Amino acid sequence: MFQKTCYRIVVKVGTSTITHDNGSMNLKKMDELVRVLSDLHGYGHEVILVTSGAIGIGVRKLSLPERPKELPMKQAAAAVGQCSMMHTYDTLFGEYNQLVGQILLTDGDVDDPSRREHLSNTFEALLKTNVIPVVNENDSVSSAEIETGQHKVLGDNDTLSSIVAALCKADLLVLISDIDGLYDSDPKTNKDAKLIPEVRELSDEILNMAGGAGSAFGTGGMTTKLSAARIAMSAGCDMVITNGARMSDLYDIVEGKPVGTRFIGKKENG
Ligand code: GLU
Repeated sequence: MFQKTCYRIVVKVGTSTITHDNGSMNLKKMDELVRVLSDLHGYGHEVILVTSGAIGIGVRKLSLPERPKELPMKQAAAAVGQCSMMHTYDTLFGEYNQLVGQILLTDGDVDDPSRREHLSNTFEALLKTNVIPVVNENDSVSSAEIETGQHKVLGDNDTLSSIVAALCKADLLVLISDIDGLYDSDPKTNKDAKLIPEVRELSDEILNMAGGAGSAFGTGGMTTKLSAARIAMSAGCDMVITNGARMSDLYDIVEGKPVGTRFIGKKENG
């Protein structure tokens, strides 16, 4: 008899994919994403969505002239934006008869053994009841920026999504981005830059492509994606970087077809 293969999949989407340049939600994009995820869930896969966007959407909703620099205002924007973003996800998933539940996390929730266990149980309970958990960092209470002293957004959802993938023992993590994958040099400046289809080892050569000296495109995006790859791979989870311009590529990715860059998770016997 035909045996279906169903996976536990974590999909991470960034602010630039689900919003327009002016910060308003890109409903077309969000709907495409929601439709594919609902369909994958309908097939039998277990799906977890990690989504950014709270701060960007909040800035727009509050009519702030620009993204605030000070932490309390960023946290206030996140509080407003998260509400709005979640309402939209709930409505769009509802169109496909798909239930969702919101999970907001801080570092402490995964570091503390007892909170970690509760969190893991909550994910299991949601997945068992056919709910798609929708996850973001709890930006309004998170102090990641203060703790690390780095002037970036509070945390970063690339890393967060890999922590969620490891916690939930996912088979696959997909990072939806605005680039096609990992290139051997900067595709913006080098027209001969080649996409790397598969990575089995995070060698120095690979790490240098993302952020090493001489890499013009390493700062920010690709560096956090490679730290996410390290966490996912050691948890035995494959990770794929793909371009959000084609949401339907998610079907091929789940089937193991070559799309973007696939980082192969360490398997127990090999
Ligand atoms: N959690 C932040 C937000 O929702 C974004 C973090 C990131 O983009 O990595 O706005």
